[in-house]
Amino acid sequence: MRSIQDSVEVLSGVGAKRLEALHSLGIYSIYDLITHFPFRYEDIQVRSLDEIEDQEKVTLKGRVVTQPVVQHYGYRKSRLSFKLALDSAVIGVTFFNQPYLKDKIYLEEEIAIFGKWDGMRQSLGGFKILGSNGDQDSQDFESVYHVNKSIKQKTLLTLIQSALEDYYAMIPEVVPESLRQQYRLMSHKDAIKAMHFPQTQEEFQQATRQIVYQEFLIYQLKLQLIRFKRKASHQGQPIIYDVEKLKQFIQVLPFELTDGQKKVVNEICRDLRAPFEMNRLLQGDVGSGKTVVAVIALVATILGGYQGAFMVPTEILAEQHFQTIEAFFADTDYSVALLTGSTKTKARREILEQLAEGSLDLVIGTHALIQDDVVFNHLGLVITDEQHRFGVNQRQKLNEKGTNPNVLYMTATPIPRTLAITLMGEMDVSILAQMPDGRIPIRTVWSKSDQLLQALTFIEKELRKGRQAYIITPLIEKSELIDLKNAEEMHQKVVDFYKGEWEIGLLHGRQKAEEKDAIMHAFKDNRYQVLVSTTVIEVGLNVPNATVMVIQDAERFGLAQLHQLRGRVGRGSAESYCLLLANPKTEIGKERMQIMTESTDGFYLSQKDLELRGSGDVFGVKQAGMPEFKYADVIKHAEVLETANRDVILMLSDQTFFEDSDFTSLRNYLDSEGNLAKKFQ
Ligand code: ADP
Ligand code: MG
Repeated sequence: MRSIQDSVEVLSGVGAKRLEALHSLGIYSIYDLITHFPFRYEDIQVRSLDEIEDQEKVTLKGRVVTQPVVQHYGYRKSRLSFKLALDSAVIGVTFFNQPYLKDKIYLEEEIAIFGKWDGMRQSLGGFKILGSNGDQDSQDFESVYHVNKSIKQKTLLTLIQSALEDYYAMIPEVVPESLRQQYRLMSHKDAIKAMHFPQTQEEFQQATRQIVYQEFLIYQLKLQLIRFKRKASHQGQPIIYDVEKLKQFIQVLPFELTDGQKKVVNEICRDLRAPFEMNRLLQGDVGSGKTVVAVIALVATILGGYQGAFMVPTEILAEQHFQTIEAFFADTDYSVALLTGSTKTKARREILEQLAEGSLDLVIGTHALIQDDVVFNHLGLVITDEQHRFGVNQRQKLNEKGTNPNVLYMTATPIPRTLAITLMGEMDVSILAQMPDGRIPIRTVWSKSDQLLQALTFIEKELRKGRQAYIITPLIEKSELIDLKNAEEMHQKVVDFYKGEWEIGLLHGRQKAEEKDAIMHAFKDNRYQVLVSTTVIEVGLNVPNATVMVIQDAERFGLAQLHQLRGRVGRGSAESYCLLLANPKTEIGKERMQIMTESTDGFYLSQKDLELRGSGDVFGVKQAGMPEFKYADVIKHAEVLETANRDVILMLSDQTFFEDSDFTSLRNYLDSEGNLAKKFQ
C-alpha cells in the first residue's frame, strides 16, 4: 500500500544519484518532499512600466520587435539582446550567457520575461522566459526552493509536482475537525499545495496559518504529553518530610521570606510530596533570592530522608553557595560538602564514600558532580543553578544519578514565554517575580566609551562613603589572552588613577581557582575596594557593599550578560549605579544600551532582546535545545504558538484528547511517530 511515508525512490526520475541529492536536503519520504516548502516566492505577475521601480525584479510582457542578437566575448561569455515593445514603450532586453535562448525568441511574438529592471538604461536584465504566450500560467508567484549543487530548482519542482499528483489524496488530516472549524483552517492537503503553488497572496497566507498551527500543535502535544505522563505515572519517590521542622529552619533564616519566595517554595514542596518526580523550572531575576528557595527545598529533601545535589556552572559560585549553606546549616545536624575540579584527591575520596554510603546529606559542586564515580545512596532532589549554562546531556547525567529524582532547574536569565513553552514546555514553571524588600532600583547611565576617567572619579565618591566598585573589561570572543591583556591594562590605569589610595584587585580567567577564590574573598572582606575583572565574575557573586558597576565597551555584551553583570550591584540597601561605557556602531546596538538605561526588569529585557535579535541567540539561551520547525517560526508566529499551547493543555487537562473521536487522527499520528498517545504507558 502506498503512503506518504514512502521513500522518494518510488517517484519516476529518482535514481541512486538523485536519491542521494534529495537526502542531502533532508528529504527521505514523500511527505518530506511535499513539505519542502519554498523559502521565497517571486512575483511573476505581469506588471506595467509605470508601476515598477529601478532594480526591481519583475515580469514584463511585450512583442519582440528586433531579431535577437548574440555577442560572444571572453571565455564562454555571451550577451543576447533584442527589443521588446510594451504598451507604452520599447525597451531593451539582455540575457547573459544563455545564447541558446535565441531559438526560443521569435520576431513579432508575444513573450513574458522575468528579470531585473534597469530604469537608467530602460532595459530588462532577463533571468528567464515565462512561456511564449505569457499567461499560460495563471499563477502570480513562482516558488524558489532551497537546493544545492546536486539538484536543480526545476528538477525539485517537477518532483514535488509529481509527488503531489500521486499522493495528494493520501495526505492525512491531523488537526481535529473541531479546531479546524474554530480557526477556519484549510485542509492540510490544500495548504501543502498552496504553499508550493499559491494563486494569490491571500491563499498563501491561509496556507501558512494551517501549516504553522499544525506544526506547533503536534510539537506542543508531544511536549505536554511528556509532562502529563510524568505526572500520571507515579514513578517518583514522594518525599514526606516533617513540616514543623522545615518551618523551624525557615524561621531561623536571617531574613523573612518574601511572598514570592513563599509561593514558589510551596509549589516546589507540593511537587516533592507528590508521587511523581518533579521537573520544574524556577525563573527569577538576578537577586530575587533563588538560592534560599533552593536551600529550603534541599532541607525538605533531607528531612524526608533523601540526599540532595546542587550543581552550578562555576567554582566561584559553588563555593559561595557552599558558604551560604554552611552558615544556614551551622546550628543543624545536616551535612554538606563541596565538590569541584579543585577538590583535593583525599577530600574527594572521602566525599564520594560518604555519598555512596548515604552519610552525606548534600553535595554542592560543578561539573565534577557528574563524573562516573560520583554515586549517591538515595538521591531525592537535583538542583541545577543557571541551568542554561549546562547542556541537556550534562543535566541529564546528574538526574540519572538517582532513581527518578526530583529535578529543579533555576535560571536568572528570564526566558520569554514563547521560548519557554518551546524549549521547556514539558516542565512546570515557577516564577519568582518579586525582589526582596528594600532594594532600590539600580540607576543605569550610558556614556561614551572614552569616559573612563569620569567613571573613576564617580567611583571615588562612592568609595569615600565606604562602598566598593566593579570595573568589567570586555570579552573578546574566544581569546582569553586578549581578555587578560585588557584586564591588566585596565587594572594598571585604575591603580595609576587612585595613586595607592585604594586597593585594586584583578580577576581573570587565567588565574587558578584558588587564586580567584582568594581575590573574591578579599573583595568580599573589603580588602579590595575596586575589583577589575573580566566576565568570570558574571554569575552569582554576592557582595552587597558594592554599589558601582562600570562596564567598559558595553556594546560587546549581549543584553543578558549586561543584565547579569549589573545584577552584581544593588544587592544591599544603598543606591547603586551601573555605568555603561559604549560606542555602539549599529542602531540595534544603540537601542540595546538605551533599553538598559530604561529597565532593570529581566523579563522585559529578555523580551526586547528576542525582538531585537530574533530567535537566533536569545538572551544567552543556547540554540542546542531549539526544535527545528519546517516552516513555523517561534518569533514570527508567536501568537499561533500560544494558541496551540493553550489548545493542547486544554485537551490534556480534561482528557478529551484520549477519549474523543475528534482527536483520533491526532492520536494516530502520534502513534505512528512512536509517541504513543496512551494515557498511561
Ligand atoms: P539570585 O536569585 O540571583 O540567585 P540570591 O539567592 O543570591 O539571588 O539572593 C540575592 C541576595 O538577596 C542575597 O544576599 C540573599 O541573602 C538576599 N535575600 C534573599 N532572600 C531575601 C529576603 N527574603 N529578604 C532579604 N534578603 C534576601
Ligand atoms: Mg543565584
